[in-house]
Amino acid sequence: METSITRRDFLGSVLLASGSVLLGGVTPAQLVAGPDFTGFGGVGEYRTSNGNTWDVLTAGHAIRDSRYDPLPKNIVDTGESYDCVIIGGGISGLAAALFFQRDASSGMKCLILENHPIFGGEAKQNEFLVDGKRLTAHQGSAIYQIQYPNSFLAHFYESIGLKTPNLTYQRWSGPDPEFPLSTTPYQATGLQHGQYGFWFGAKFGHKPGVWLIDPVGKNLQGAPVSNTTRLEWLRFLKGESIERKKFERPQVEGDTISRYLDSITLEQHYIERFGLSRETVRTFLSPVEGGGSGLGPDALSGYSDYAFEMLHPLPGDNGGSDQMFPGGNATIARLMLKSLIPNAIGGVNDIEGVCRNEVNFGSLDVPETPTRIRLSSTALHVAHEGQPSKADSVMIAYLKEGKLYKVKARSIVMAGGCWTTKHIVKDLPETHRNAYAQFYRSPCMMANVAVRNWRFLYKMGMSGCRWFEGIGNYMEVRKLALTGAEDPTICPDSPIVLTLKVLYSYPGHSTEEQGNQGRREMLGTSFKDYERQIREQFSEMFATVGFDASRDIAGIVLNRWGHAYLNPQPGFFFGRDARPAPRETLRRAPFGRIAFANTDLAGAMDHRYSILEAQRAVRQLLDQVLT
Ligand SMILES: Cc1cc2nc3c(=O)[nH]c(=O)nc-3n(C[C@H](O)[C@H](O)[C@H](O)COP(=O)(O)OP(=O)(O)OC[C@H]3O[C@@H](n4cnc5c(N)ncnc54)[C@H](O)[C@@H]3O)c2cc1C
Repeated sequence: METSITRRDFLGSVLLASGSVLLGGVTPAQLVAGPDFTGFGGVGEYRTSNGNTWDVLTAGHAIRDSRYDPLPKNIVDTGESYDCVIIGGGISGLAAALFFQRDASSGMKCLILENHPIFGGEAKQNEFLVDGKRLTAHQGSAIYQIQYPNSFLAHFYESIGLKTPNLTYQRWSGPDPEFPLSTTPYQATGLQHGQYGFWFGAKFGHKPGVWLIDPVGKNLQGAPVSNTTRLEWLRFLKGESIERKKFERPQVEGDTISRYLDSITLEQHYIERFGLSRETVRTFLSPVEGGGSGLGPDALSGYSDYAFEMLHPLPGDNGGSDQMFPGGNATIARLMLKSLIPNAIGGVNDIEGVCRNEVNFGSLDVPETPTRIRLSSTALHVAHEGQPSKADSVMIAYLKEGKLYKVKARSIVMAGGCWTTKHIVKDLPETHRNAYAQFYRSPCMMANVAVRNWRFLYKMGMSGCRWFEGIGNYMEVRKLALTGAEDPTICPDSPIVLTLKVLYSYPGHSTEEQGNQGRREMLGTSFKDYERQIREQFSEMFATVGFDASRDIAGIVLNRWGHAYLNPQPGFFFGRDARPAPRETLRRAPFGRIAFANTDLAGAMDHRYSILEAQRAVRQLLDQVLT
């Protein structure tokens, strides 16, 4: 914060300001490069894999810019041939490999190509060492739900070693009166207990800014907004519908209400349901209340808020049954890895085993195992060898450490997500290209901020807070699930990680344009600049209670996800103007020897959909393609 602005930062800002006139989006190489982009990655196994690192991003842009079309002659043929190659080693790719390993004939071989230095996709974690204590936080995918005990998903969890999904969390300790704490970043437990704050700064005419503690308990009295806005917003916060008839939530995918919701924007739905003005939606709800879909309600289908409910988790004590490991769903990815390749992680295949033991990277890509995982390998080119309906094999070219290789496969699962799949499947038919053209994804930056203690929040009477300008939108003190490595207790003097989810929304622009603008902003800002913004934000909000950024912040890791969220626009789920929903074209059947997975096919970002889409894709290959 105290350091002067470097030339690169300045260049970034200038180009950013003129970003809207850049044709075809930004060229990140011209803005922030290499270490200035990736920044500090923390410690431990994930330290070189915080979000989309510079290497991942440049390989990705080689795909987008067709840099290897046509493939050069000097490509190395590994001579390998697999029964199935899976592109993408996130939850969906790992799940596809598990289903393949379990259901295909014994002896069949599978290869996962994953572009990051570690498996997991958006389900990864960051680790910090703060004053001798190891802290873990999620990079993206955070929570899971407890499912009905005899459901497919419950059996799946059990099969990977998640046998006790109801986790045990840290207890309160020390002399300070206890604050009820959340166990996930999304619970905002303090809102119901009066231990939550809303901060209003320069945007609301306050410099320095002002806090409203216990906003719901105080009925937003004291918020610097008009009385009309206050009443509308309060209605939303209390979930009070204005409709005379009680709002009936969708019960089944495709019922009348879900189809109606998919025909309007989420913003329109909030206006109808809660009587909000457009301005209130855009000022106070956007982009956080976007149904977990990365942008604000103006850009999304009204159904996006409800799509997750169709997965039917067990209702919990307070309505939900959300659970979270300290590193989020990275633990689920680790459990899946150990189930696939038992000696990939030492110890027993249970929560403690995969959290406490290290990955044996040398065991991931060896010929002896039915499934191999090749990391830091970006697939660039996937095409049938011959006519798709008749070909016996598919050729896959990938880039690893600057070199091009090729392998063969009898079948493929594309589990990497729409933004690369649409470019790399070279013989993709027109119907599928048109379908993928209707998939939009927006960026997100997850900033994990390790603080030496959270007494500054405690002094203000808060366990979580929300703000409406600057960087990020909210944060939450979480008590951690106990996996064998954490302190069993928490108090205001405990070091913790506060996670800021930075979303990029530009209400009023099209869904596609919002994603492009967001990427320009996120990719065009250096680590240093973001670090300074975060330190300034914390200082502005907490300096009055003695917060000192240079003393209290122990480290910041940025996880930049260029294509973090699928943003379903109206019509995404059930189609529009008599045209089918784009996802159905991709899910209906394999294209030749290629089937499609990844959570984005569901239109909802959730690891359970990653698993379900993988299961469907592998079944299609086994039922219709592999003889
Ligand atoms: C910020 C954030 C928070 C989230 N929170 C939750 C949550 O709390 N709970 C939840 O259930 N879900 C959450 N999600 C949704 C998350 O997307 C899913 O949980 C799940 O992790 C997605 O897995 P996936 O395998 O479908 O996709 P991904 O995780 O995106 O995995 C795809 C992998 O393939 C790689 N890849 C792509 N193209 C190529 C290529 N050409 N060659 C090689 N590799 C390639 C990608 O880089 C990536 O590593 C969140 C998402 C984000 C962004």
